[in-house]
Order: sequence, then structure tokens, then C-alpha cells
Amino acid sequence: MAYLQVRDATKSFAGGTTALRGVSLDVRRGEFFTLLGPSGCGKTTLLRAIAGFNPLTSGTIAVDGIDLTSVPPHKRDIGMVFQDYAVFPHLSVFDNVAFGLKPRKVPPAEVARRVPEALEAVRLAALADRLPAAMSGGQQQRIGLARAMVINPRLLLMDEPLSNLDAKLRIELREEIRDIQQRVGIATIYVTHDQEEALAISDRICVMSNGHVEQVGTPEAIYGDPQTLFVARFVGTLNELERGPALADLLQRLDLGAADRDGVTWTIRPEDIRLVSSGAADTAALEGVVSKCTYLGREAHLHLRTPAGDLIVHVVNPSRVAVPAAGATVAVAVGREALMGFDGEGRRVA
Ligand code: ATP
Repeated sequence: MAYLQVRDATKSFAGGTTALRGVSLDVRRGEFFTLLGPSGCGKTTLLRAIAGFNPLTSGTIAVDGIDLTSVPPHKRDIGMVFQDYAVFPHLSVFDNVAFGLKPRKVPPAEVARRVPEALEAVRLAALADRLPAAMSGGQQQRIGLARAMVINPRLLLMDEPLSNLDAKLRIELREEIRDIQQRVGIATIYVTHDQEEALAISDRICVMSNGHVEQVGTPEAIYGDPQTLFVARFVGTLNELERGPALADLLQRLDLGAADRDGVTWTIRPEDIRLVSSGAADTAALEGVVSKCTYLGREAHLHLRTPAGDLIVHVVNPSRVAVPAAGATVAVAVGREALMGFDGEGRRVA
């Protein structure tokens, strides 16, 4: 049985906004599970419902077989880490972390043991006596993490914990959060709108849009095998081919004519298109004119105009291959297996 079970969760706010429309989810024991989606899709509402801050309008939430739907937040034993750190500036690092233990009436000897352990886990043991005010955002967020973990929670919830940090620190701290989570083995639900962060950190990702679940899967499944057009567009870069004779001809040559229907959107990732030498008898070839070429060191992004629409092609290692310049006519081949088709409702059909 799943460790966390959310069933048919709905949430309507006074004023008429419906933030959750029948969300059901299973999170496994020890899993790093990420809620990913655009602003306003309901991620924070769902996280706060699990924490107990936002009671659901209907539906249930159970952890480890215990129904928590009507249990008040402080009795749920759930640790939460917030975007704005929420540390107390007038309390030392030690006291900030010990704070969560107070209402739980933990004996002082145990506080003296558990707080240093939690600080050790987030590499702040040496700074226990400091005040947080003089500390960096990354350090303050580690205090937040230690404070959430020190109560030995059933679940750890994190709401965009890295979004106030600069890009480099964000990458460092996300690796650290992942390491700590693996070591402690605590089931974690992490909210982000950053797809790269979600792919890097998660065991599984739940992509949400407009209050419902689009897809749940491993990072590889979400990126490589999206089940809806929304997921394919939201995670990674997506080329959408233009319907017309050139596309119909390409699909025929690739033996995909039978899978084509009116209203199907055919798509392909930029890295699944490769440059081929012009004039080669490649059944998957399309001709195009380079409208722009952006050199990025590790790769180059070619923007092409083709009879089947504008395409972006990623060329790996552009210092070693001749990358065509703007204005050049080139031929590209699209991988048959990499073409993804979605019907008018956005459901994957090929
Ligand atoms: P973000 O990344 O911007 O935080 P989100 O995916 O977390 O977005 P939510 O904060 O869960 O989205 O909001 C979902 C919807 O519910 C939005 O339309 C939002 O305006 C609305 N909403 C959230 N909290 C409240 C509230 N307390 N009262 C009324 N509407 C709310």
C-alpha cells in the first residue's frame, strides 16, 4: 500500500476559485516526490492540504494507513520547509531547530542530542550558537531543513525551498537536499515550477495543471514519454510540426500515415533531430533554411524554417562539427521513434 494516499482531493476557496479538482496520488515510503506545474496550478494548495493548513473541500489524505484528513496540523507529525526560510532572527541556530521540539514536550536531554544531530545532517553544527541574521540564504534554508527534520516527521514537505537563492547555490543545495533525503530515507514532497530542478532531484514527478494531475512518472518517463501535450510542452523544449502536405509526406515515408488523423499534433524534441548531408536519400529527411544559430558552448541551437514548420535542432559539441550559419540550406532527419502525436484533447496517441 502507498505510504501517502491522496484520494479525490478538491479545494474551492471562498470567492469561487477551485484550486484542486479531484486529485488522487500515491507516494511510496522513502520516495522523493515532486509536484511540478505552472504558477496557479494548485501545487501549494495541495501541499498545504497535506500539512493540514488548508482543509480540503472534499477528499481524503492518509499517511501510513492513518487517515489525517481531519487531524489538526500540529498533530500530523509533518515537517515543512518554506520558500522564505521562516527562521526566527532573534534565536540562535540551535534554538531555531529546537523550536519544533518544544510543543512536543521532548525532554531536555533528548533536545541536547537531537538538535546537534539535525545540525550535523545539514552541515551547520559549527554554527549552532550564531544568529541567523548574518547567515546566507543557503545557510538559513539549511536551518529550515534541520528544524523540519528534527521532529522525525512522517513526511517532509518543501514548498519551493530554493527559489530565493541564486542559480549556482540552487544547484548545490538541491544536490545536498537530495543526499540528506536519501540518507534519512524520509518520504518527501517537493513543490517547484522549475522543470530542471524537478528532473534532477526526484524519484517521481507529478505534473499538475489547472488543479488536476496530468501525469505521474519517473523523470525519464515525464521527459521522454509524456502522456499529454501539456506535459510535453511544459517539460523540455518541444517542436510542434505544422499540418500540411510536407508533414503528410514525411509521415507516409516514416510509415506513420495510418496513425495520423485530423487534429493530431505531431511533435519532436530538438535533440531527436539530426543534421544529415543534403541530397542523402534519407526517408526521414526534411529540408530547411537556417534562420538563426545560437552557439552555447556545449551545444548549438539551430532555428530552421522547413515546409513542415519552424524547428529547433540541438547540435551537440558544436566546436567539433561544422554548424551551418544563418541562411544556409540544410537537411535534417527526424527519428521515427521520437515523433510523438497528441489528439485534439492533448492525449498521446502515437
Ligand atoms: P505558485 O507556483 O504561483 O505558488 P501554485 O501551483 O502553488 O502556484 P496555488 O498557490 O496552489 O498554485 O493556487 C492555486 C489557485 O488557487 C490559484 O488560482 C490561486 O489564486 C488560488 N488560491 C490559492 N490560495 C488561495 C486563497 N487563500 N484564497 C483564494 N484563492 C486562493
